Amino acid sequence: MSDQPEDPCNSDGYFHLPESLKDNPVLASLDGKRIRFAGKAMRKCVYERDGGKCHYCGAVVTLERFQADHKVPFSKGGLTILSNLLCSCRLCNLAKGNVSYEQFVSELAEKGLEWRNDIAQKQANWFADQRRLALGQI
Ligand SMILES: [Zn+2]
Repeated sequence: MSDQPEDPCNSDGYFHLPESLKDNPVLASLDGKRIRFAGKAMRKCVYERDGGKCHYCGAVVTLERFQADHKVPFSKGGLTILSNLLCSCRLCNLAKGNVSYEQFVSELAEKGLEWRNDIAQKQANWFADQRRLALGQI
C-alpha cells in the first residue's frame, strides 16, 4: 500500500468524479437563473467521465470541440449539472435538439446516422434562419 492517494484516472482505467463535484446545486444556478453552459471544469469532468467519445454515436471528440449535451434539454428545465450532461459530438447534439433523451436514442437506433445527419442539417438551417431573422435580414 502506498501513502499516495490514488489517481482517480488510473485506478481502474476510468475517471471517477469526486463526490464533492457530483450534482453540486450551487453550480446549476446563479442569482436564481439556471446556468446554460457548463464551465471549463465541469466540461472536463463530463469529457473524462465519458471517455472522450460521443455518448450517442461513439465518435471520438476533442476536449475543445465536444458539446456538453443536456440529457433533459435545457429548454425543458434540464439543469447544467454533471448527471444531466453527456459528452456529444456536434452532429448528435444538433440532431437531438429539444427531443427527450429516450426519444432521440430510440430514433437513432432505429433510423441510424444518416437520419441524424438529415435532422442536424435541418436544425442548422433553422438556427441560421433565426439568426438572419434576428438581424433583420429576412
Ligand atoms: Zn455523435
